[in-house]
Amino acid sequence: MHNERVGICAWQKNSFVDFPGTVSSVLFFEGCNLQCPWCHNPQIVKRQLPAVSLDDVLDFMRKRKGLIEGVVLSGGEPTLHASLGPVVEKLKHIDLKVKIDTNGLHPEILQEVEFDYLALDIKTLPSKYVLLGCTLKDCDARLKRSIEMVRARGDYGEIRIPCASGYIDREIALEIAQLVKGVARVFLQPLNYKVEFLDEEYKQTARLPHEKLEEFRSIIAAEVGECKIRGT
Ligand code: SF4
Repeated sequence: MHNERVGICAWQKNSFVDFPGTVSSVLFFEGCNLQCPWCHNPQIVKRQLPAVSLDDVLDFMRKRKGLIEGVVLSGGEPTLHASLGPVVEKLKHIDLKVKIDTNGLHPEILQEVEFDYLALDIKTLPSKYVLLGCTLKDCDARLKRSIEMVRARGDYGEIRIPCASGYIDREIALEIAQLVKGVARVFLQPLNYKVEFLDEEYKQTARLPHEKLEEFRSIIAAEVGECKIRGT
C-alpha cells in the first residue's frame, strides 16, 4: 500500500482538541453514506479534494515521534474504506494511538479495527436517518451495536449529538437518552455557522436556542456519566 490511493483527501497536521488528552494529526477520508444538511465538510463528502499520500503522512509522523502521539481518522466516513484496517496497522506500527470518528453505520468494520478511542455521532432517532439519506434497512440495529461499543469503552469513547433543528427536540432527546443510557461521555455539538453547510438553505433554519440545548443536556445527563454542550 505504497503511494496508492487509500481514500485520504485532507490532513490537519496538528491538533490539540480532536483526541482527548492526545496531541494528534487528523486524517479525513472522502465520501459518506449520509448527507447531513449541516455537514461542515461538503468537499470531503462530495469527493472533490485531491488524494493525500499515506507515505507522506507516515514520514511526517516518524519525524515528529514523541511530539504527535495519535491520529484521528475522520471524514467523510472512514469505515467506507477497505484501507481503514491497513492504515490503522501502519499507524500502530509506529506507536501512534488511533481515534476513529464515525457515524456508526458499519459496526462490523469497527469491530475488526484496533483503535484506542471511538467517537460516535448520533444524529437523531434511528427512524429519522432516512431523512439524512440513509438507505440501510437495519440502521436501528447497526446504531445500537455501535452505541454498545462506545458504552463498553467507558472513558475511551464518546457520543456526539449535533444540535440541528428538525433532528432533535424534547421528545427525541428523551428517546436518545434511553438509547445512550450508561455511556460515559456524551457531547451536544452546536453547529458551526461560520463554515459552508452541505445544504446552505438548511443553514437558515438550523439554529436552536441555547435554552433548548440546556434542556436536552439535562434530559440526557440523567442517563449517562456526563453530558456537556461542546464549546461552553
Ligand atoms: S456530518 Fe458526518 S455523517 Fe453527516 S454527511 Fe458529513 S461526514 Fe457524513
